[in-house]
Amino acid sequence: MTDQNLPKSARNFDVQRNLPDEVRLANAMDGFVAEFGPTAASYMNACVRCGLCAEACHFYLATDDPKYTPIHKIKPFEEAYNRTSGPFAWLNKMLGRAPKLSIEELEQWEELIYDSCNMCGRCTLACPMGIDIAELVKEARHGMFAAGLLPDRLMHLVTKAEEFDSPFGTPEDFRTTVRQIEKEFGVSMPMDKEKADVLMTLTPEALENHHFGIATMARVLNHLGLDWTYCSDAFEATNFGYLSGDLELQGELTVRLINKAKAIGASTLIIPECGHAWGAARWEAAKWYGAPIEGLRIRHIIEVLAEAVEAGKLKCTPVNESVTFHDPCQQIRRGGLERMPRVLLKALGMELHELDPHGVEGFCCGGGGGVLANERAEPLRLKAFELKKQAVEASGAKHFVTSCNICELTMSKDIEAIGWDKQIESVIDLIGTHMITDEPPLKSPAGKAGGARKKSGTPATGKTKRKRPAKKK
Ligand code: SF4
Ligand code: SF4
Repeated sequence: MTDQNLPKSARNFDVQRNLPDEVRLANAMDGFVAEFGPTAASYMNACVRCGLCAEACHFYLATDDPKYTPIHKIKPFEEAYNRTSGPFAWLNKMLGRAPKLSIEELEQWEELIYDSCNMCGRCTLACPMGIDIAELVKEARHGMFAAGLLPDRLMHLVTKAEEFDSPFGTPEDFRTTVRQIEKEFGVSMPMDKEKADVLMTLTPEALENHHFGIATMARVLNHLGLDWTYCSDAFEATNFGYLSGDLELQGELTVRLINKAKAIGASTLIIPECGHAWGAARWEAAKWYGAPIEGLRIRHIIEVLAEAVEAGKLKCTPVNESVTFHDPCQQIRRGGLERMPRVLLKALGMELHELDPHGVEGFCCGGGGGVLANERAEPLRLKAFELKKQAVEASGAKHFVTSCNICELTMSKDIEAIGWDKQIESVIDLIGTHMITDEPPLKSPAGKAGGARKKSGTPATGKTKRKRPAKKK
């Protein structure tokens, strides 16, 4: 019998929905088996147990605990494969070499794949057999979501995204907040234009905590003369379906953005400073849309700005100070954008002191992949952050900059929790405050380099239910 009736403090897993154990197990197995296509099968058969992935994972390095080795994190997934789908599944079953998964195993596993994996892909890079453990963890989460075995806080955000249009709130909440930011900072922010060339999206994190960042980004888009708009019925960049394993929600959130961009005649959909939002939209959108996405480019904001710099359309007054850069793993290692933030830092006249390691080899912030949303993971996350802190200190740089809202929020919280005298800044905020422009200056006094982050969030208050978007017509 599952331990779900134990007090929360006595267990390291959460249980969603009221289901008998047999149903949870069956749902998990169905979810796993659905993922055992040729790619997963080849990964599953390829591991030579060399252990190189362990040395790549910040959670293992920070704790020395073997349960945090990447290959261990996919063990129940592998066991399910050996029992149901592997080439020797029949023999394993006959000889009892692949015992049935138990509910207790799955409960213990919840911590490993939701608390101690950011799906950052550093282990993938290290694996000599090319096994994409980050992808396998993502696939394993599909079964865990179906079994209702995921952290409470992540489930809460999924529920909000299902019930409203976004974990932030309703379209009305969004319009109200954007109008407030527009007024506070004196920056024009087009809303719900019937036709526009660019559909701009935002993260709930920025809408709740970083209005200055939204204002600077809008100011840059205006300076570039783009024909852009927010759409209050398709503003959400993040995808909590992708993070939680809720495939239906993942598809709906993605298709909503694509349908809206097409409806307003946009040629470009811009993903803001977010990592997993970039991965979910850029690499997976066509799968959910059900066809190639023709006539619409999905671009990250740092790509758009770096291109503008290189075309001579965006120039900055030089900052003339040293900087080190945290590479967000979904944008850089798994997203192909390593050069872009470096173009922006150069345009700012900053002297870059690279972290060791950096670029595609950089360590994750520790909060991606839904880990930040999962409060019980904080102690482990703080241990992993020590690696980043040491690297930043060793760089000797004055500024510590990144290009992802979630990395920024994660590391701001970590910095505060450990009492470190350092501030993390956004490269977009720096561009927005130092660009040479005829745009009116920002009205807010908060505009010190990098901009101020609000302490408290704007509560989501709306009641409007979301509409389910239709797939490709
Ligand atoms: S994807 Fe990242 S966090 Fe997850 S096991 Fe691999 S290195 Fe560790
Ligand atoms: S690095 Fe690859 S082959 Fe080696 S143990 Fe890890 S997953 Fe297996």
